[in-house]
This record gives sequence, structure tokens and C-alpha cells, in this order.
Amino acid sequence: MSDRGRAINKSRDLRSARPFWRATPNISVDAASTANRKDYDAIIIGAGISGALMAEALSRRKLRILIVDRRDPVRGSTMASTAMIQHEIDTPLGELSRMIGEKKAARAWQRSAASVARLTQLVEDLQLACSFEARKTLYVSGDTYGARALKQEAEMRSGIGLDAEYLTGSALAERFGIDRTAAIVSKCSASANPAQLTAALLQVAVSRGVEIVSPLTITDYKETRDGVVVATDQGQLLTTADLIACTGYEYLSQLESKSHQVISTWALASRPNTPRPEWLKDFLVWEGSDPYLYFRSTPDGRIIAGGEDEADPLAHQDQEKAKLKFARIIEKLRDIVGIDIGKPAYGWSAPFGTTTTGLPIIDRLPGTKHVHAVMGFGGNGITFSTIAAEILAARIGGNKDADEDLFRYPE
Ligand SMILES: Cc1cc2nc3c(=O)[nH]c(=O)nc-3n(C[C@H](O)[C@H](O)[C@H](O)COP(=O)(O)OP(=O)(O)OC[C@H]3O[C@@H](n4cnc5c(N)ncnc54)[C@H](O)[C@@H]3O)c2cc1C
Repeated sequence: MSDRGRAINKSRDLRSARPFWRATPNISVDAASTANRKDYDAIIIGAGISGALMAEALSRRKLRILIVDRRDPVRGSTMASTAMIQHEIDTPLGELSRMIGEKKAARAWQRSAASVARLTQLVEDLQLACSFEARKTLYVSGDTYGARALKQEAEMRSGIGLDAEYLTGSALAERFGIDRTAAIVSKCSASANPAQLTAALLQVAVSRGVEIVSPLTITDYKETRDGVVVATDQGQLLTTADLIACTGYEYLSQLESKSHQVISTWALASRPNTPRPEWLKDFLVWEGSDPYLYFRSTPDGRIIAGGEDEADPLAHQDQEKAKLKFARIIEKLRDIVGIDIGKPAYGWSAPFGTTTTGLPIIDRLPGTKHVHAVMGFGGNGITFSTIAAEILAARIGGNKDADEDLFRYPE
């Protein structure tokens, strides 16, 4: 076990200070300053959306669960999310099929769609107040995926039972007033206030007896015959049957791999009641370009838009670059959909994790049985966190999820 004070992972600057959600109510959750006991059934590292969904899923059974975070709860990258809760994985079905095979790619896409539906149901069942709304998606052609690619993609998706309506350029212009060569319209996605969603899930977990301790950093762990011993920067040793790292882009150093990387991304929110086409209330929009633009609206009529990703993981810290990125996003919004948002009310930047396949890693740490890591990477962090909670709740409950092979740590 390492010295007190060192962490099991590198701390990052997870976002600039001005994400829109910080200004919204009901995003805070009380936390204790020290753990109540020394032994747990599950310790979850991270009180973001991944840790919150995990805690909710595990706390359906009577388990002694502790969540720890080195920051206040809900103050990591979850606060930067634009919360387009899509079933569509960043890597199109056709391309993913070429990477991992048709059957596995089909299962990944189907699982993604099923998980959005289950998250929607969960929010309704638990009555989580977080501006959660069912949405359709509009995926428009761009410089990476043109009309032919979108047509094939729509056919492939329909072929595995997913809702995907191909639109020609003229149909797209008529229905949406967008001048691109093609698009795909799909159902089965959603949007939310990610900070409120996370806080509400954590409150549910607390009401079921889950403890949250913050600020507390996990500095080390060691698997033993009886479980896992965990060291904290308060100098305690805690024991747990299972340790689950929901540490977001501050992934554990053992998980360093060429198959995933952290890049930089930018997002903004306009003022309330920004003039917008009527259809945008029901849609999430993204484009088949690199870098891509994505956008949606909020119930109070703001436009939230993002993209302009860059490979440099530290570029998001550059204030001057941020101004250029925001200007570019505003210009692209004007070009694609004719919306002029004027000066944005909020603009923020953040690191963002991507994997080669676009799929997350939900796996045991190499060489362990009871140390699990959830890396909710890509533009589908919330959908993937839902899948992670399902897979690990099954595993810890003694069952095997039929899709867990899809999200293994790449050898
Ligand atoms: C600009 C932007 C836009 C995005 N848009 C979308 C979107 O539209 N849709 C979507 O689904 N996803 C989106 N994402 C991705 C999504 O936001 C992330 O996948 C998600 O927030 C990750 O959640 P998390 O809980 O894993 O991480 P976090 O929210 O970062 O939580 C991890 C927590 O772990 C804690 N931690 C780390 N190490 C330790 C340690 N050693 N000890 C104690 N605590 C520790 C950290 O303090 C942190 O609070 C976006 C991300 C960004 C940055």
C-alpha cells in the first residue's frame, strides 16, 4: 500500500468554472467528513453520474455501501456534460461492425438503446426532478459521413430492430429547414440536467442507507483473500467486498492504454428563450463530421451546443482558444440551422475521454477479482454509466450480464 497523500490516479482539471448547470438549483448533496464504519460490501470511488447510478443500482439490495469523492459530490466532469442521453454510439453501427464484428456491434447498439429506455423508466419510477425529457435524434450528414453512408447506416440499424428513418436532402430541407445531403431520424433518446439527475440519484441512495464521504481521496488498494483493503488520505484502512472506481476521466493508472485517450472539448449555453425552430424542442441534433457539432434545447428555451474537440488534453485550459471555439460553435449553429444565439450566457471547456471503438470500459482491473472500473467514455457517458451500473449490479449480485464481454479492458 502506498503512502498517505498519494492517489491511485492522477487528478485533472475536470472543467472550466462556468458550466451552465452550476447555476441551477438542487445540485448539491450533503456528505459526511469521515466514514461511519471500517467494513463495507461495496465502496464506490466517485460521486458523479457513474457513481450515482452505480449506488442506486447496488442499493436496491441491502448492502453496506460507501461512496467517496475527493471533490464535493457532483463537482467532477458530470457538471460539464451537455447531457444528450443518446442511444446512438459515437461510432456508427457500420463502422463498429467493421471494428468488432457485426454481432457484437449490433449487441452494443441494442444494449445502448435498451439502457436509455431503462434510465427513462428509472427517472419516472423514482420521480427524479432533473428536467428529464424523451427526445428524438436528428443525425445530419457531414464531411465524414455523407448521404450514402447514412443510407447504409439507417438500413443496418433498422435491420437489427432499431428505429432509424433515412431522410433525403429534400426531405430534410422540408421537415427541418436544414441544407445537408441526408439525415437519420431516430427515437429513443433523452435529455436532462445532469447535475440534478446525479444529485437526485445520490439522494435516493442515501435514503436507502448509502454513506457519502467527501472530500476523501482513495490513495491505494490491495486485494486480499477476503476482499479489498482500501487506503484513504485520512489515513484509514477500509475493507470492502468490492471496490468500484467510477472516477471518470481521472482513470486509474493501471488502465492507461493506447485504446483510449483524453482530449479537449468545448460547450456553451445561450440565454433563455433563444429564438429556435419549433421542432428543436423534441430533438437532439448531431452531425457526421470531424470535429462534429451537436446541440439541443432546454425547457427554458436555451440552446446548448458543443464540439470542436481537439486531441491535446490540456487545450481546454487555454482561455484565448476557448473564445475562438465558442465563436466557431456559434457560426456552425447559424450555418446548419439558422439559429443566431448572440453572446452565449455560459461557455465552458473540459477534458473528454474517447476510446478507439467509442465503447466504454466496464471491467475488473487486470489481475483482480473484486476491483472494478467504469470508464464512461465518449459522447454517451450517461448511457454507458447506466449500462455499467446494470453489469456490475448483476456481477456483485452473483449473476453474469450477457453483454459484459463487449466492454472489456483491451488487452
Ligand atoms: C463538455 C462535455 C460534454 C459532454 N456531453 C455529454 C452528453 O451530451 N451526453 C453524455 O452522455 N455524456 C456527455 N459527456 C460525458 C459525460 O459527462 C461523462 O461521461 C460523465 O460525466 C462521467 O461521469 P463520471 O461520474 O464517470 O465522472 P465524474 O463526474 O468526473 O466523477 C468522477 C469523480 O471521481 C472522483 N475521483 C476521482 N479519483 C478519485 C480518488 N482517487 N479518490 C476519490 N475520488 C476520486 C472525482 O473527484 C470525480 O468527482 C460530456 C462530457 C463533457 C466534458
